[in-house]
Amino acid sequence: MSDIVDATTRAQLVDERDALRRRLAELGEGDPESGPAFDEGFADSSQVAAEQGEVRALTADLRSLLDDAELALAKIDDGTYGRCETCGEPIAPARLEAMPASRFCVDHA
Ligand SMILES: [Zn+2]
Repeated sequence: MSDIVDATTRAQLVDERDALRRRLAELGEGDPESGPAFDEGFADSSQVAAEQGEVRALTADLRSLLDDAELALAKIDDGTYGRCETCGEPIAPARLEAMPASRFCVDHA
């Protein structure tokens, strides 16, 4: 299926992956000690807890997007990119164009 994977798709995924990594790094992901700087002088502790909860939820979202982007890049490398993980059928090019990290066809999304 490497014929449908052009350089643009790969570049798009690399860009996305790098942007997600930067975003996660900014959120202090991977280094809890130097995590996001919450202004505890301003916010009371419940506010801080709420902010930390939001950051955790955001981090989880970003991490799953990052996983998808990395998986898609790995699939480009092993030639399985663009196939639905459920049925193995090719994913519609328009769908891949809109979401290069798609792992499933429209029917199995
Ligand atoms: Zn499918």
